[in-house]
Amino acid sequence: MKKTTKAIHTPYPSPDAYGALAMPVYNCCAYEFKNHEEMADSFCARSNAPDYSRVTNPTVIHFENIVRNLTGARDVIAFNSGMAAISAIFMAITAAGKRVVTSRHLFGNTFLLLTRTLKRFGVETELVDLTDLDAVRRAVNDNTACIYLETITNPQMEVADIAALADIAHAHGAALVADTTMIPFTFADVKRLGVDIEVLSSTKYLSGGATSLGGLVIDYGTVPGFDEAVRRDVLMNFGGYMTPNPAYLQTLGLETLQVRYEAQQANAMEVALALSEIEGIEVCYPGLPDNPYHELCNIQFDGNYSAMLTLLLPSEEACYRFIDSLQLVKRATNLFDNRTLAIHPYSTIYGTIPVETRLAMDVSPRLIRLSIGLEDPEDIIADLSQAINKAVNNNS
Ligand SMILES: *Cc1c(COP(=O)(O)O)cnc(C)c1O
Repeated sequence: MKKTTKAIHTPYPSPDAYGALAMPVYNCCAYEFKNHEEMADSFCARSNAPDYSRVTNPTVIHFENIVRNLTGARDVIAFNSGMAAISAIFMAITAAGKRVVTSRHLFGNTFLLLTRTLKRFGVETELVDLTDLDAVRRAVNDNTACIYLETITNPQMEVADIAALADIAHAHGAALVADTTMIPFTFADVKRLGVDIEVLSSTKYLSGGATSLGGLVIDYGTVPGFDEAVRRDVLMNFGGYMTPNPAYLQTLGLETLQVRYEAQQANAMEVALALSEIEGIEVCYPGLPDNPYHELCNIQFDGNYSAMLTLLLPSEEACYRFIDSLQLVKRATNLFDNRTLAIHPYSTIYGTIPVETRLAMDVSPRLIRLSIGLEDPEDIIADLSQAINKAVNNNS
């Protein structure tokens, strides 16, 4: 079966009493057992029978199974947000004294998790330019638990050579962990490039129009004991497992992911091309042939470039005029909603981070981030163009 079909036709394990076509939502916390033996087997992981929904739930398991079927992963573990999934990975593979090698170009909360929260627990984070392989080689040593990267960084839109990073990590017995939120796993196969563990915010493309929060850890089975550490240790002792309603919504989201992603990416391409014609601004989108990461995206991600793009306007004030002039496009955070969204990351997502750190992360005060939706591209282009015109020419 092809992916589009698998996403819709992965069967659920037990037939439903009524033959329900969609996986029922099991909104229960606990499960009844026939006898003490079945009960003990479930609690001691000798059977797959569910015992308690903090660690297992049939609706969530079905969602995980579809993703496993689509990726060929050893295990897929669903969390109640992308950040819960990311934290779970670090809880499972780091410890006091261990180090993480990553970039300054990171999603804001992942950056703070590593440089602030985990630092308090003795986990060291080394920030290097992941596109500079010599710098990475100098930073990685036998104490390194993992190299952590984002497939397309948000909002800098940088792309690193993943296969080369995998070689460096593996030479030191470290794992390569990739946040693949920007391009769904059905479009870019990062396992092929040497990624050991994939993590993503399913709040974005998968949820099907910002219906619910969620995160996925996709374990390709190359890190010994990892899956056990997440399910038996992190999930049990920290919590954070996905709940049944988001699993249901995101199962529906998965069924339409292929068509939605393609349409959104095509819209992003049209918008990027149209806005590139406008004088006085810069458009950053790896789908554009003159983008420095265009070729790398073709090689690594099979010609997929996401549906996020950024604009560099002449000044911070121009950015505020742009944001305030939008009529159709929504002033909101989030990515890959069905609606087109715009945000000025410098004053919002990164607004409470010291200015020097923001600049070191290349979050420019002149940068606007756009997530292109499923509207008709002509309408998106018309609204963005009029707002750019007001922003650049200061004629409100
Ligand atoms: C949104 C996002 C996250 C965090 O996901 P949540 O579901 O909001 O917790 C992590 N990484 C990237 C790249 C994101 O865009």
